Amino acid sequence: MNLIFIMMDGARLDRIVNGKNYSNLIKNSTFFPKTITYAPYTIAALHAVFSGTYGHNNGVNSYWSTPKFKKNEYKTLSLYLQEKGYHTYADVINDLVLPNIGFDSFVVHDELNDDLTERHKLLLENMKTKSDQNKDFFLYLHYSNIHTGIMEQVLKKYDNFSDEYFSKKNENAKFYDTLFENADEYLGEIISHCKKLNLIENSLIVVISDHGISIGEKLGERAYGVYCYDYTLISTALFHHPSIPKKITENQIRSIDLLPTILEILSISMDSNYKPIDGQSLMPIINGSSEERIAFSQSGNPLKNKQPPKEPNVFSIRTDKWKFISNIHNNTEELYDLEVDPTEENNLINFNPDISSKLRQEMNNTLHDGKQLS
Ligand SMILES: [Zn+2]
Repeated sequence: MNLIFIMMDGARLDRIVNGKNYSNLIKNSTFFPKTITYAPYTIAALHAVFSGTYGHNNGVNSYWSTPKFKKNEYKTLSLYLQEKGYHTYADVINDLVLPNIGFDSFVVHDELNDDLTERHKLLLENMKTKSDQNKDFFLYLHYSNIHTGIMEQVLKKYDNFSDEYFSKKNENAKFYDTLFENADEYLGEIISHCKKLNLIENSLIVVISDHGISIGEKLGERAYGVYCYDYTLISTALFHHPSIPKKITENQIRSIDLLPTILEILSISMDSNYKPIDGQSLMPIINGSSEERIAFSQSGNPLKNKQPPKEPNVFSIRTDKWKFISNIHNNTEELYDLEVDPTEENNLINFNPDISSKLRQEMNNTLHDGKQLS
């Protein structure tokens, strides 16, 4: 079975569930609307997805650390598939976002000038030729144009503390909507093209977003990659194939769970020559079991600096109900009851010492592999 992996960079959950083409696809797929990303920016987010492992373990825990990916310890999705004889092809926004391992072709598009819809339809046609010659393929398509718009109209124009930007939330939201509508159109076209090429029956289609994007919710973060709040931390994942149940799972899962799930669907076993991964297959959940998974995330708040820090300085741990945040840069903590306070306005750190202490311990365990901090 082929794998068509579509990455909708920066697509927000609140828009996704209302997108015309997105919602049609969701109805016919298994959808995880609360897929907690390891990091709310592309590089570390995608290395976690491709390795099934958090960045503090796989080596990529910052904007700077792509070269530090521990490829001898963690086997990537693309390498798994390449070794199984797949033709593997990535069309990416730049050469840092994914581990460039296990790809027969790793091609960078020009996000400012390329027509990604036409480009990716052509790639599907090329892959169809492989498939007709009985060669399975893995095609990774990066939809980068939400990022392009944000880069041009937000990142280049404002800083993280711009009064002008944070005072025009409605306008920011409308601008984001136009970017998202184009993304939804793209997705619709790509899916119809898969249908037209008869790729639906013999391909697993996976559609994910890597993180959300701020429209001005919190001063200090004009886009993403600063804090660990839900408007960026919630990403999404969707699995589409005639054999996969059509359902929506409201409980949170983690982006590190995607790799083992895809491998299980494609009947590829984990390679024991590599380290055990952090993620767990979602197949039990897809098949009906209900379980809570605790999600860990990290970000790098640049504060007043122009560039992100070399090491993460904001950590969060999250259950379906609670989120505990540790700001390493100023030694503060936050606790939110996400059920009653989804926009994370009301910091309960001083009111719920038991929950805080439990989550703080959980965070330490995640970071230090079960060992106590001395
Ligand atoms: Zn991204």
